[in-house]
Order: sequence, then structure tokens, then C-alpha cells
Amino acid sequence: VLLDSKAQQTELEWISYPPNGWEEISGLDESYTPIRTYQVCRVMEPNQNNWLRTNWIEKRNAQRIFVELKFTLRDCNSLPGMVGTCKETFNLYYQETDSEVGRSMQETQYVKIDTIAADESFTQGDLGERKMKLNTEVRIIGPLSRQGFYLAFQDVGACIALVSVKVYYKKCWSIIENLTIFPDTVTGSEFSSLVEVEGICVNNAEEEADNSPKMHCSAEGEWLVPIGKCICKAGFHQKGDACEPCGRGYYKTSSQDLQCSRCPMHSFVDREGSRRCDCDDGYYRAFSDPPSAACTRPPSAPQNLVYNINQTTLSLEWNPPADTGGRNDVTYRVRCQHCSWEPEECKPCGPHVGYFPAQSQLVDTYVNVVDLLAHANYTFEVEAVNGVSDLSRTQRLFATVSIATGQAAPSIVGEVIKEKVQQRSIQLSWQEPRQLNGAITEYEIKYYKKDQKDRTYSTVRAKSTSATVNNLKPSTAYVFQIRAFTQAGYGTFGPRMEITTKEEETAAIVSSEQNPVIIIAVVAVAGTIILVFMVFGFIIGRRHCGYSKADQEGDEELYFQFKFPGSKTYIDPETNEDPNRSVHQFAKELDASYVQIERVLGAGQFGEVCSGRLKVPGKRDAAVAIKTLKVGHTEKQKKDFLCEASIMGQFDHPNVVHLEGVVTRGKPVMIVTEFMENGSLDAFLRIHDGQFTIIQLVGMLRGIASGMRYLADMGYVHRNLAARNVLVNSNLVCKVSDFGLSRTINDDPEAVYSTTGGKISVRWTAPEAIQFRKFTSASDVWSYGVVMWEVMSFGERPYWDMSNQDVMKALEESYRLPAPMDCAPGLHQLMLDCWKKDRGERPKFDQIISILDKMIRNPNTLKTPVGTCTSPLLGQSVSNVSAFHSVEEWLVAIKMERYRDNLTAAGYISLESVARMSTEDVVRLGITQVEHQKKLMSSIQTMRAQMFHLHHTGVQV
Ligand code: ADP
Repeated sequence: VLLDSKAQQTELEWISYPPNGWEEISGLDESYTPIRTYQVCRVMEPNQNNWLRTNWIEKRNAQRIFVELKFTLRDCNSLPGMVGTCKETFNLYYQETDSEVGRSMQETQYVKIDTIAADESFTQGDLGERKMKLNTEVRIIGPLSRQGFYLAFQDVGACIALVSVKVYYKKCWSIIENLTIFPDTVTGSEFSSLVEVEGICVNNAEEEADNSPKMHCSAEGEWLVPIGKCICKAGFHQKGDACEPCGRGYYKTSSQDLQCSRCPMHSFVDREGSRRCDCDDGYYRAFSDPPSAACTRPPSAPQNLVYNINQTTLSLEWNPPADTGGRNDVTYRVRCQHCSWEPEECKPCGPHVGYFPAQSQLVDTYVNVVDLLAHANYTFEVEAVNGVSDLSRTQRLFATVSIATGQAAPSIVGEVIKEKVQQRSIQLSWQEPRQLNGAITEYEIKYYKKDQKDRTYSTVRAKSTSATVNNLKPSTAYVFQIRAFTQAGYGTFGPRMEITTKEEETAAIVSSEQNPVIIIAVVAVAGTIILVFMVFGFIIGRRHCGYSKADQEGDEELYFQFKFPGSKTYIDPETNEDPNRSVHQFAKELDASYVQIERVLGAGQFGEVCSGRLKVPGKRDAAVAIKTLKVGHTEKQKKDFLCEASIMGQFDHPNVVHLEGVVTRGKPVMIVTEFMENGSLDAFLRIHDGQFTIIQLVGMLRGIASGMRYLADMGYVHRNLAARNVLVNSNLVCKVSDFGLSRTINDDPEAVYSTTGGKISVRWTAPEAIQFRKFTSASDVWSYGVVMWEVMSFGERPYWDMSNQDVMKALEESYRLPAPMDCAPGLHQLMLDCWKKDRGERPKFDQIISILDKMIRNPNTLKTPVGTCTSPLLGQSVSNVSAFHSVEEWLVAIKMERYRDNLTAAGYISLESVARMSTEDVVRLGITQVEHQKKLMSSIQTMRAQMFHLHHTGVQV
């Protein structure tokens, strides 16, 4: 309030002009309180102009001033004998100044505010009753530009009593709203103006992010339109208009949380206002654990550690720890120590020891350890590890076993040196193998002419680490390979070494070549040796093919030469007269009682294909696939059937399906191979369309290329490579399968008869193979390119529904399959290179592998450029293991969402926990339908394989 005439008991002393106009009079108001009033009533005289001016009123910071007048006014009609001068209004003026301007008055300086009329006037009678009708009028002035002002009242001949004058302005009073203090605020100058006011957070509160608190003060002095707010800081919670600290045993991590929460399990806090709780002694929180997670501890030791040794390979298996420490991220790591016999002293095993699937971060409860030393003592410690193991300083808990390895073949020989190269002989020396694994009794030196057409080789044997190879041809390139032999058998051949003999000197032509008698003698002797060998060699066995001591070569060198295909070169079983003998040359005969058939997988060309177990006494049981030959077969059919085993038995590579053996002596005749849980690659990809990352797909391709390189190195041409002829196991490892074209091609629905005779799968086969039956490893590379396309498109049919004729025509016109969706340009380029018309220009499998390896090492090269298409699965983090993000999503994808509650109730809420479920766990959920159990289990296995895969950088062995 700037002025209130009623509040003043002493004289007001406003200026009245002329002096006989307005008169200051004491009176009583309606509640009989004494007040000072001004009155004028000069109605009887004409031309009245009486002014009354208030004292100077300082406006302070007001912008919009309210003037409230209370007055009474006499009704002119009630005045007796009225002349025409009586008025019933008066005028209100103001004058703005920066300070008081003295007591003189000049009418012209005033600005008129309004003419004020009474709503009610009173008559004599009313006066008599002393009951005045009080009028109240309010006028607003502003905006004002000077420091203060005067009010003036002009009477022009009315009968008025000015009972009170009140001058005030409005403001919004300080308040606390949303934990924000808004100070006293004067209203704006206009009726419609809103004054924006920034608030200040109360103690221990902070502004909500990007939203500082504001309110608006209206012209009427009301707070309107709150924006933003303050919230209690971490460690504080709201109580009324204040933020109070969380109590002991409670915490609040962030201002975003509403309430303080009780400390999670195994944690505490004994001060107030805490952001987080501290772990109890012996308990920890991993870096990735949120403050709301319970504190956990390292797991106890794995249980029931068992082992199985096979020569220098060890497999360890164990059960999960009794106590997981309260976490579900338990993995395992293995420590290997090599111990001397006497005294017992152990040292960490060196880097030569291999661990599969890995040495640490094992998700599954087994590991295979390879390349141990023969006849050595080892101690293995298996430790269960979880997210807090590395934070804990308490003693580690292991399961321990001590083992002794058996005998094993030696490793490959060290560096080979050409000691002496002559026209007809070469002297070599080499270093002992790094791992002897026993006493070396001899070395075998295998050699052959580099550019020979027929696959023949010769061998020389030596007792020490050097040998001279004689009877060579001058100016000829030879390839040498050496391996060591101990009681435990032959080691692997070392790398190939190429050496060319010296040029022949024309003068010294060897006489024997001119003497037919000697030639005949040599041929006869050689022929006899070959014959003797052929007859006995097969019986004694491939490895120990008999040899005779050569008399002419001194004591330390054993020498002989014969024609016989090398063990690392593929032998076409068709060339063998007796197919039964051929199959036993390469395949182990299994006792029919070892093979236990469990389930029929499907129909093959010759009979049913089943799954089952192979139980060889003294060996671990193995899951196997069993191909049977239907009863009532012809001899020809049996030969064709076993042909596949004769071929497969020659191979030993992680990306080629492994032959366990054959049953030919019992009925039915069977071929037993390793079991590939996920079946053929094309169907597998179609079922899991879009569910693998590009890295995973390239990993699969890498595996297939590795198997194909091996086959090509062996001199084997597959002729029918296609995704349907690649099998996938539970770890997503791809293996090449379907050998022996004569049978597989007949069986293949894709194969059609070509014009050159014979059946061909047109879409997968190189043009030169279709046109002139020119099948080579280079035509296999063409097929590999088509497999790449199938894999990258998740099992799409190459050339879609085009007819074979159209495909051939299109290829002839240089048309090639376009890049599948989301396929990186680099991968498509590799496909196009595989499909070069000129087979000499196609890459070798070697090169394909190194290109794929480069891509795997540098996953950015696998990204699809922006704009072409997106590749959401590439480069996902390890935790984001599959295409699904939640158990729910997964269940929906496999149409098993009806079991959502079963899983939740049993506590399987993360995909990681689901991936660990066993068949028993699934049954325990209360799922009774066998089909559903199987469906869930199969999907869980895939998920597990995916997780395994990602943990190991996506590269397959
Ligand atoms: P065949 O050559 O006798 O006609 P296939 O090799 O085509 O038989 O096999 C028939 C089906 O059996 C394949 O499509 C595949 O799904 C399944 N199968 C074959 N071998 C295995 C294996 N080792 N593991 C799992 N499934 C296999």
C-alpha cells in the first residue's frame, strides 16, 4: 500500500484550492473508527472549481497503480430549493514527478484519470439516520515513468465526502513450489502481462536436467504456469517442501529416483544421505553392477572334476560350483602346470599347449587340452570365476587333478638344410622335432618330382638327422618332406621343400641308360619290390608298409623306392579292384554291437540315415550319424555305398565330416560318421533367417573354405559343393560332406543330366565342368562362390526360380548373381572372383581364406556402405548375443510364448540363463509335450552356440 488515508489519525494536510473549497473534517467510518475525510458541498453557487491534491506518493517499484476511492454523494434532487448548478460527479487526476514540487497547483499539469460518478447517492433522510451509502470506485494508472505522483480531485459543484483514499499496487508473494523458491515479485505494467520468474532450488535439491524451474506472476498477483522443477539430489528424498537425507541403511543413487531404497543384500551404510551402500566384508560389486544389485562373492570351486587322457590329449569335465556367489555369470578357467617326476616341482605350461574351446572364459563345463608332452606329469587347476572374482583378495578355490600323459608321435622336424646338391643326389640335414615324445628310431624322407603327372613318390629312411637321396634325375625339381618315427608312430610331415638337381654334363651320360639290359634288370627289380609291397603292404597296414634294407647305402641310411600313392594324396577308390579291400584300407571296421541307433533322421539314397551313439570299449561315447544300406541291395549298390566311406576315411580335418568307421561284416551295412547336430547348412540357415551376425556367417564360410583347401591339397575334387552338402554341428562349425560323386549326384535332386553325359547340379557348377566335364579344384572354387551367396542370403536358392537353361544362358552372357541383402561389397567381389569365366583367374582356396581372415580381423570391411542397406546385426556387442533381446522376444520368435510364465516362475529371465538350460531343466519347467521340449532345446542349443561363437571372436578352428 502506498497511501491509506484511513490509516492516518493526524491531519492529512492535503492542499485545497481555493481555500474555501475542500475541507478536512474528522469523522467516523461505518465501524465508528475515527477517520480523516475531505468534504465539499458548494451546490448553491454556480461555477465551482475546487481542487484537492494529495501529498507526494512515491511509487517505489510499482508499475501498475490501483486507486481505491470511498465516498458518499448527495442526491441533487434531495436538496431543497435547488438551483441548476448541483452536480453528482467529480474528476480524478494525477501528475507524475520525480520528487515533491511544493504546494502550488497548476491545473494544466494534471492528467485526467476519469470522471467519477456515484453508484448510490444519499438523501437528507439517510443523513438523518446517519447511514451513508458508501461508494467504492477503483481506477488503475500506469505504466508510470517518474519516481512518484500526486492525485488530485476536482469538484465542479457536487456535495461529496471523500471518506478514504487508498493507493496500492499488486505483487506475487514468495512461495515454494516443486521444491523451488520463487521470490516476491511485482506484477507487470499491463493487464495481460505475465512476469517470468526463475526459481531457486531448496537446499539439497537440483534443477531437473534441461528444465530450469520458472513461474509467471500475473497482473492480478497470482502465480501461474509453472515450468520445470527441482528434485532432491542423490542421497536425499523429498519431505514436504524440503529435501531430507536418506536414513542409515538406505541409499538413493540419483536425483531421478523418487525414494531412498533399502540397501541391497550383503551391503550396508551407516551414515545418512548416502548415494550407495558399501558391500559387506567378503562381498563385492562388479564394475558393471548397478548400485541396486546385491553384493556378491566369488564362486566356490568346480565340483567332480574328471579327466580322460588319450595319448597327449586331455579332456577335463566338471560340474558347476555349489555356490555361484550369487551371480549368474560364472565361467571357468584352467591352469596347466608341468611337473617333473622327481622331485615333484611344477612350472606353468608354455604356450605350446592348446585349449579347446579356450583356456579361460569357458561357458561350458569342459575343456580339451592338446599338444601336451608325452610321458609327462601335469597338474591342472580348474577355477570357477564370476564378475567379482578379480576384485576379491580371498584365497582362490580350485578343483585340481594330477595326470600323466601317455605316448605320442613326435612333432614335425625342425629346419631342413640342403647340404649338397648334385646332378643325381641331394644331401639334406635337419633338426630334431621340438617335441620328441620318445626316442626317435628313424626319419622318413618322402620325395617326388615336382611336375609329375602320376601321383607317385619315393622314400628314404635315415637313423640320424641327415640323409643323401640318390638316383635322382639331373636338372629336375624335386619336392621333399620329412617326418620322424618313434615307438608311438610317425609324426606329421614337415613343410614341403623344393630342390632342383644340377644340370647334366653332356660328356657324362650315364651308361645304364644306354644299356637296355640294365634297364630291364632295374625295372624287373623295381617291379618285384612293388609287387611284394602291394601284396604285403596292404595287409600290414598303410603306415608300416614294409621296406627292405638297401645293401648299397651304408649302415645309417636305409634306401628303397617304389611306386605307391602318398598318404597325403587322395586315392580314388574306383581304381582299386576290390572295393571291400579299398574300404578297409581307409575305414575302420566297427563291431556292430558298438553302434546303437537311436533316431531316424531321414532317408538317404541307399537307406535310412539315423542318429545314435558309438560305444567303443575304453573310449568315451560319441554321438554319431549312421547311414545304413537297405537290405536286398546289389553288390554294385554296396560298392557305391561304401565308396563314400573309402573317400571320407582318407580325410582328417576339422572342417570335413569325420568318418568313425564302417560296419561291413554285420547287417545292415553301415557308415558311421560324427554327428552334426544342426543338419545341412542350407536348411539350417533358412530356419534361422536373419539370426546370425555377418561375422558369424563369414566364420562359417571360413570353415568351409578351410575344409575345401584341405581337400584341394589332397588332390580331391568335390564336384558337388553346395550348402546342402555342408553339415553344421552344435558349435556352428561347418563341415564339408557328401563324397563320392557317383552316388551323391544320383541322390541329389538338383542334379540333371548334362549334354556331355553324367548328372550335374547346374546352379553350383562351373561352366567348363558343365560343358566339357572339366572338374578341378578351380571348378570347386566356382561352387564355393555359390555357397558364399547361399550363406550370405540365409539359404536363398541361387538364381531363384530361373530354369537351368536360363541360368546357363545368363552365365554365358556374363550375368552373375547380385550381392545378397546386407552383403558387404568385399564379399560380393570375392564371389565374383570365384565366378571368373577363365578358371585360371579364380582365387585358390588359400587366397580365399586369407581374404576372409582379413575381413574377420577388421569387421569394418564387412559393413554395408550407408545407403545401400542396413546391417543391424553386424558388430553387436558380446552381451547382445543373438537376434533377440529378451526371453519374451525369443519365445515369440519360436512361437513358444505360451511357456513365458513357466520360464519366469522358474527364474529364467535373461537369455544368458536360458542358454544354460539343459533338457532336464526344460522338462522341470512342466512342459510335457515332447515336440515342444525338443523345439525349445534345439533353439537353446543354437543360442548357446551363438554365445560361444561370439565369445571366441567368431573364428572357427
Ligand atoms: P545319402 O548321401 O545317403 O543320400 P545324405 O548324406 O544326403 O544321405 O544324408 C541325408 C540327410 O541326413 C542329410 O540331409 C542330413 O540332414 C542328414 N545327415 C547326414 N549326415 C549327417 C550327420 N553326420 N549328422 C547329422 N545329420 C546328417
